[in-house]
Amino acid sequence: MSSTRETIDLRSDTLTLPSEAMKQAMVTSPLGDDMIDVDPTVEQLQADLARVLRKEAALFMPSGTMTNQIALRVHCQPGDELICDDQAHIYHYEQGAFAQLSGLSVRPLAGNCGCLEPEAIVDAIRPPGLHTVTTRLLCLENTHNRGGGTVIPLDLCAELCETARSHGLATHLDGARLFNAVVASGVAAHEFAALFDTVSVCFSKGLGAPVGSALVGSREAIEKARRYRKLFGGAMRQAGVLAGAALYALHHNVERLAEDHRTAAVLAECVRRSPHLTLEPERVETNIVIFRVAEAWGGDAARFVARLEEQGVRSFPFSRRHVRLVTHMHISTDDALKAGEIVERIARERA
Ligand SMILES: *Cc1c(COP(=O)(O)O)cnc(C)c1O
Repeated sequence: MSSTRETIDLRSDTLTLPSEAMKQAMVTSPLGDDMIDVDPTVEQLQADLARVLRKEAALFMPSGTMTNQIALRVHCQPGDELICDDQAHIYHYEQGAFAQLSGLSVRPLAGNCGCLEPEAIVDAIRPPGLHTVTTRLLCLENTHNRGGGTVIPLDLCAELCETARSHGLATHLDGARLFNAVVASGVAAHEFAALFDTVSVCFSKGLGAPVGSALVGSREAIEKARRYRKLFGGAMRQAGVLAGAALYALHHNVERLAEDHRTAAVLAECVRRSPHLTLEPERVETNIVIFRVAEAWGGDAARFVARLEEQGVRSFPFSRRHVRLVTHMHISTDDALKAGEIVERIARERA
């Protein structure tokens, strides 16, 4: 790779660095010991997020993985089972923590970019009996990461949650990118949140904070989560340094996610024009672009990623034949056009 050329890094929206204004917010945030007393900045973040999602309470956490896993623990006991789609982050990318940390089993269901069939949920619920685990929880993910940033429509979320609830299941939303879903769909965050018992959100993805996630839910659920956060090693002291960045992100960086969706659309157009490449899913709704590299191109996804890297574009191989590109606040329209042209050129040149 030429050392003079700037790389265009499309590996993840977690690559974002805090802006000067965000750093300023971090150093000027009032602090306290959030375990002995309270940290006022953490308190404010939790109050503001709970207000935005119209839930009773929120709890700041170090990571999205911890937030999801604590939510599972709040809803389930060892020997319980949760239902999610078979591409869910909770199932794929958290080291089976549901089993390692909480003694849970998972019933993964085939879905379409995170969209499940209500019937399939009903079929997956186990009848009570001596031989079976107890089905306790339904987890959805919105937007859906492995589903290419797809927004699960509000009415489908409502139908799935109603199905779960009518069978006595609790519901959790992995909303690591909930605000991408909000900006892309025009549906308010609280409308999605109202359907679920608990919702996790990440500040460290497209919202641009260096660290931080949060769980929202009822006062009772969040009180339980506070105990588990300590157990899981996630209780922090002067965490306002981090919550200050998250607070800044919540109040300044939500609307601008629309720009990331526009730059992703620019990339998607270039992929559509490229021989040997197919968008999967075809519709790019938010900031994630996944494409399949046909065998006829002459190499696999890892080879395509290596060829992109030679030209200064960084991406992730997402499967043997799939490449993922993610746009974020450091990617301008120009960057997206440049990267898109490189994708198209490499597709035409072959491996
Ligand atoms: C990133 C992500 C998480 C949590 O990730 P952390 O790296 O642990 O903060 C959870 N769910 C989804 C869908 C994600 O994309």
